[in-house]
Amino acid sequence: MGPQEPVTGRVVSSRLCTRGKSASFIRHVAIDIGDTPLAGRFRAGQSFGIVPPGEDERGRPHKLRLYSLASPSFGEDGAGRVISTTPKRLIAERTPQREGDDPEDHRLFLGTCSNYVCDLRAGDEVLVTGPAGKRFLLPAEPDKHDYLFLATGTGIAPFRGMALELMRGPGGPTSSRVEVVMGSPYTSDLLYDDLFSDLAAEHSNFAYHPVVSRERRDDGGPGEYVHGHLERRLDERFREMLESPRTLVYMCGLAGMQIGVFRMLGRHGLHGPYLKLHEQIADVDPADWTDDQIKRRVRHGPRCMLEVY
Ligand SMILES: Cc1cc2nc3c(=O)[nH]c(=O)nc-3n(C[C@H](O)[C@H](O)[C@H](O)COP(=O)(O)OP(=O)(O)OC[C@H]3O[C@@H](n4cnc5c(N)ncnc54)[C@H](O)[C@@H]3O)c2cc1C
Repeated sequence: MGPQEPVTGRVVSSRLCTRGKSASFIRHVAIDIGDTPLAGRFRAGQSFGIVPPGEDERGRPHKLRLYSLASPSFGEDGAGRVISTTPKRLIAERTPQREGDDPEDHRLFLGTCSNYVCDLRAGDEVLVTGPAGKRFLLPAEPDKHDYLFLATGTGIAPFRGMALELMRGPGGPTSSRVEVVMGSPYTSDLLYDDLFSDLAAEHSNFAYHPVVSRERRDDGGPGEYVHGHLERRLDERFREMLESPRTLVYMCGLAGMQIGVFRMLGRHGLHGPYLKLHEQIADVDPADWTDDQIKRRVRHGPRCMLEVY
């Protein structure tokens, strides 16, 4: 059987995983794959495919969509038989997507697969493929590194799996430094907030930094984004970590989140091991990098793992 051939899993549980009442509907969905050839084959940081039933508007079977694994390599159950993910319902008003689309059509638009997955109940069957992804993984010798995990929205999913693996894995809690920075528009949108708060309370080497963009901070300052938080607290907290040869930076979230972080690293001369600059940008002062230059001329370097979608 090829890895992309779907197998039938069964939903074990589904619950909202936002911190409070939120305008976004984001769930934690656990799927039993124990009796399939995929059991035990997933590693934290990978993704899996879900094939929604039915056909698209052109009458072709729906294509699979990828979802990040939110579970550690040992699964939700400790044996790699139950995997999980963090689907967000895509809910919007229709907007023209291609030439010829009616600009006046603003009926409700519901994403096919995300709503299918969020509608599933415990006991339902679901077609799963995988594992997908080879680079967004923990290193072979996890205790030899420290970790800066940067997430926006559902981009937190792989860090739930990695944090559980590092702090509650079979080898005992790591002594490495682990810092999770989670960005969201409102406090109510924070995901898995209880778990990360608990891990931070249990382990002095684990820190959790919720970063909210559309509310004022506890200290009265304006809301901020992930890169702004890193920059504001650079000297007090993050510079030493970013300068350490042990540190790996992982970023996951919506495409574009890396732009601010890349610029911040460049501006503070911290980009060496984390970024690869195209020669056309090598002589440009990072403070002057445009968004377009960052998108086209800056890539992740060896100690930076990037997953954006
Ligand atoms: C590696 C990877 C990991 C991922 N992990 C996660 C995850 O953990 N959680 C998660 O929620 N998602 C994740 N995604 C995204 C996921 O794969 C789907 O893209 C997402 O759930 C939307 O799929 P859908 O079937 O609901 O939407 P679709 O039905 O596929 O709709 C999306 C498409 O519809 C069109 N569209 C969008 N808005 C409108 C509009 N307003 N009007 C008209 N058309 C519109 C666009 O063409 C868009 O591409 C991940 C993606 C990748 C690549």
